[in-house]
Amino acid sequence: MKILVTGGAGFIGSHTVVELMAEGHEVAVVDSLVNSSALVIPRLEAITGKAVPFYKADIRDKESMEKIFEAERPDAVIHFAGLKAVGESVRLPLEYYENNIGGTIKLLEVMRKAGCKNIIFSSSATVYGDPAIIPITEECPKGTCTNPYGWTKSMLEQILSDIQFADPEWNVVLLRYFNPIGAHESGTIGENPSGIPNNLMPYITQVAVGRRDVLHIFGNDYDTPDGTGVRDYIHVVDLARGHVAALKKMEPGSGLSIYNLGTGIGYSVLDIVHSFEEATGVKVPYVIDERRPGDVAVCYSSADKAHRELGWKAEYDITRMCRDSWRWQSMNPNGYGDEDMG
Ligand code: NAD
Ligand code: UDP
Repeated sequence: MKILVTGGAGFIGSHTVVELMAEGHEVAVVDSLVNSSALVIPRLEAITGKAVPFYKADIRDKESMEKIFEAERPDAVIHFAGLKAVGESVRLPLEYYENNIGGTIKLLEVMRKAGCKNIIFSSSATVYGDPAIIPITEECPKGTCTNPYGWTKSMLEQILSDIQFADPEWNVVLLRYFNPIGAHESGTIGENPSGIPNNLMPYITQVAVGRRDVLHIFGNDYDTPDGTGVRDYIHVVDLARGHVAALKKMEPGSGLSIYNLGTGIGYSVLDIVHSFEEATGVKVPYVIDERRPGDVAVCYSSADKAHRELGWKAEYDITRMCRDSWRWQSMNPNGYGDEDMG
């Protein structure tokens, strides 16, 4: 199949391009590079040994998107493009709603006009809010999000469901990611946060590589075995393969489907620090700080539905995730290099 990957220069999108091409799919990438580097594309070409068609375009620019659809005639879209910094979304809600929701609506209009009605959407475990059931199954009711970023995911799920309901020619897959970490085994592509990382693993690797002094652990008084927050960390390559598995199941009439993509295992912040130290031999100094507003104590998936229906499950363990995160960070201490952003 020919797949248009929006946000394909980003962390998860770039890894998904590799896995799609490994399965024989043709790919074209659209990315505005607002949070990624053009250097990703030659690196993807080095990994895959093939050309990766790339369009520097914003999904909100309908004219450019229409031209791209005309040139590429994709069978399906995997839609990663969006802004994802939780704290920033609290400061800039309008920008988040405009980019993530406005951008997706424009993309859907262009898709409909082009007659391409197959879409896989990057959703998030954040739509469960403070989850009513642990482990979280897809039947768990959606909850109250604690920030505008989360609401964009929750609202876009609703928008996509409504569009599919109104026109059954649409096939929509909502993939709710848990916590992606790790990197491609080559160490040439990986997560490249701008500024101070929000997420745990890039913060740990930046402390390990000497860019930051100490990890701040946000609270050790949660109702968890060691008091620190528990999450479901998943290797980004496993996550990428989940998209390939979802694509395989997409066929006329498959309608709307929702899957968690996680491992089903919860690790605490301290578990991750210790696993990282064991896997890499590098010490990670830390201090205990206040809880971070909006954080839940425990969030991990039931990964059974994706296993049952897609034949997919995560393969890589936490040691592998830590090693691959570290290989990427130590080979690229400054990510893709700030001068290349945008
Ligand atoms: P990322 O920032 O690395 O990738 C997103 C890409 O989208 C970037 O390359 C950015 O330049 C591009 N982009 C943003 N707005 C755009 C626009 N209007 N037009 C064109 N391109 C645009 O983030 P990621 O971690 O790879 O996440 C990919 C998707 O998965 C996002 O939608 C994110 O919200 C979602 N997600 C991520 C996580 C996570 O922990 N990383 C968890 C759950 C869901
Ligand atoms: N966390 C932390 N220090 C950091 C970043 C995160 O202690 O610098 C904790 C956070 O409180 C949560 C876990 O690590 O318990 C995962 O946080 P992350 O932001 O990576 O993912 P999310 O909160 O979105 O699940």
